[in-house]
Amino acid sequence: MSRDTMHLTEAMQHWLLEYGVQETSVQSALRAAMQAHPHGGMQTSPEQVQFMAMLLRVLQATCVIEIGVFTGYSAIGLAAALPPGGRLIACDCSDDYLAVAAGWWEQAGLADRIEVRRGPALQSLEALKAEGAGGTVDFIYIDADKESSDAYCELGLQLLRTGGVLAIDNMFRGGRVVDPEANDPSTVATRALAAKWSRDARVAWSLLPVGDGLGLACKLAGDGQAAIGSDPTG
Ligand code: SAH
Ligand code: CA
Repeated sequence: MSRDTMHLTEAMQHWLLEYGVQETSVQSALRAAMQAHPHGGMQTSPEQVQFMAMLLRVLQATCVIEIGVFTGYSAIGLAAALPPGGRLIACDCSDDYLAVAAGWWEQAGLADRIEVRRGPALQSLEALKAEGAGGTVDFIYIDADKESSDAYCELGLQLLRTGGVLAIDNMFRGGRVVDPEANDPSTVATRALAAKWSRDARVAWSLLPVGDGLGLACKLAGDGQAAIGSDPTG
């Protein structure tokens, strides 16, 4: 039983939210507000945001990028885990979503540490690189158009410091990654991403069954050369 991840019953899901999530009233209100939203299902699960916020504290993160903001729920959790002076660079191409998010960030008292980059996220990442942000970012949460996730990872890896972490959402695609009938572009791209990054010597990799599956890639020193050299089997 403990060798596998258990399937969560509804009762266990409630218990997890009760004792696994520490939300502020604004976070709870934003989650409640999205219950009726036609695209509310895009919101990241609270236990996943809680976990990523914990990672930011362990990493002592001061510079974080989010790719895919929607109405700002995951951004609140990430921004709140930063120390004073820390910044979250929030990338999204939807003016409408960003406007809604800004209102919630204001309510949460976090607006001053969230810097919005409007437009296609690839352009925003390129711009950050051109501005000299390469090698300085602690954590990047990737949760936008899935066909671009690999490109976000490649650019993200250049922006990360050694020891920094890429977190990639929706790795399970609701289970479609193992459905041979499922060949929509997002699922096909996600399968390729998993195959590539789980074998990539530049990063240490982990795939967690939280939410819709969370991929984690920690940037190794020297593009992974040290890790390859120390492989006891190699
Ligand atoms: N992390 C959010 C959910 C993100 S949903 C939360 O937890 O609430 C995906 C978001 O990606 C949407 O807001 C959409 O506007 C954005 N998006 C999709 N394609 C994009 C692109 N090419 N560049 C930037 N943002 C994009
Ligand atoms: Ca998502």
